[in-house]
Amino acid sequence: MKLCVIGTGYVGLVSGTCFSDIGNKVYCVDKSIDKIKNLNSGISPIYEPGLNELIQKNYKAGRLIFTTNLKNAVQNSDIIFICVGTPSKKNTDAVNLSYIFKAVKEVANSSKKKKIIITKSTVPVGTGDEIEKVLKKMKRNNFDVISNPEFLREGEAIRDFRYPDRIVVGSNKKKLFNVLQSLYQPLTSKGSKFFKTSRRGAELIKYASNAFLATKISFINELANLCEKSNINIEDIALGMGSDSRIGSRFLRAGPAYGGSCFPKDTKGLVSIGKKFQIDLSIVKSVINSNHKRISLLTNRMIKIIGPNIKNKKIAFLGVTFKPNTDDMRDSTSLSMIPFASRKGAFVNYYDPTGEKKEFKKIKNCKYSSNIAKACNKADLVIIHTEWDEFKSLDFKKLVKNKKFDVYDLRNLYTSEEMFKKKIKYHSIGRATVN
Ligand code: NAD
Repeated sequence: MKLCVIGTGYVGLVSGTCFSDIGNKVYCVDKSIDKIKNLNSGISPIYEPGLNELIQKNYKAGRLIFTTNLKNAVQNSDIIFICVGTPSKKNTDAVNLSYIFKAVKEVANSSKKKKIIITKSTVPVGTGDEIEKVLKKMKRNNFDVISNPEFLREGEAIRDFRYPDRIVVGSNKKKLFNVLQSLYQPLTSKGSKFFKTSRRGAELIKYASNAFLATKISFINELANLCEKSNINIEDIALGMGSDSRIGSRFLRAGPAYGGSCFPKDTKGLVSIGKKFQIDLSIVKSVINSNHKRISLLTNRMIKIIGPNIKNKKIAFLGVTFKPNTDDMRDSTSLSMIPFASRKGAFVNYYDPTGEKKEFKKIKNCKYSSNIAKACNKADLVIIHTEWDEFKSLDFKKLVKNKKFDVYDLRNLYTSEEMFKKKIKYHSIGRATVN
């Protein structure tokens, strides 16, 4: 099939590339001239394992085209996927749909031929209906509108695209399911479920899924607080609970507040959808609240560990992205912790495998180190913020070269017992005291 994918971010670029890899001709469109220029010179704008190789393979085969010319891409395609951002509006929970509607209008102005518009972006319930209204106003009844939300995870995006647990398609016209069933046939033939529902149903499934996962994370994080006070290991609780197949073991790892480009904005988005339909989603509201508290709890704990004289102390941050295998910084806990430490007069050296971050360029006394040893050298406190593999077996004494230092492990990568034996002052999440 011939596809147009609008937006070459984490979702659009991965989906577009993977669709081309299963034999479709894909026009990937972005309004950012720099992104398209880089992509045409073989440089991916994002870090995602395996993506560069896949882009190059399909680009060379002529199945993957990068362009800023939306009109031409739409005219040459049968299906148009909208993969633009849907961030929160400033100072409210509501979803900013301006990128969606701008893209829709551009598509509508590009062709009078029959085509399908699909929202792959996460959009509130009723957005498909609103898109239809816009198209009607523009006298464009040549477009059908489908919802096909994306569930891929950054860092595992290619595998998730190829082997999704389910493909959710929402359409109010039954005959359109056939088109999508044949597009996704290479994935369903390998066992992925193809789930058909109404357009509004598909839109809500995405928010419901993300809010439920965020709830699991907040739940285990709150229990970790209880474990710390009651001398119990949170890992035992997660294992004991998670072995119940009705609960499941995933998303039960205590750690920092949930972050990233989806959970924070989608939990807020779901609350605002509830508001629109006059439904009080009190559980989701308290999850958002609990997550906010978690950020300040972990930040205050940093001060407790290092002591009130934080001024001029050296803090090493290992990893700053919200999770490993991605360069995405959106809503990462480090965005609160690092500026806080800097405001208190500490010197922060951070290292992240995906390189220096623009978010910290203007933060006082905050420097990027190009490797773990440089970041840790002479530190008073080492904070393990992100669970990258390269942080899992470090020789802290060799790296830090300081008589006295603490390790604050937000990911429980080490055991309290091994650190106790090594005489390293170690603080982790939700664990019993070892002495
Ligand atoms: P992103 O910010 O990484 O990328 C969006 C891209 O769209 C940008 O490159 C931007 O330049 C481009 N764009 C915006 N308007 C455009 C226009 N009119 N024409 C051409 N290009 C345009 O966003 P993302 O993280 O890929 O997320 C996209 C959507 O997918 C969001 O709704 C998000 O909630 C959802 N989603 C994201 C993830 C994820 O892990 N990032 C997973 C599932 C779903």
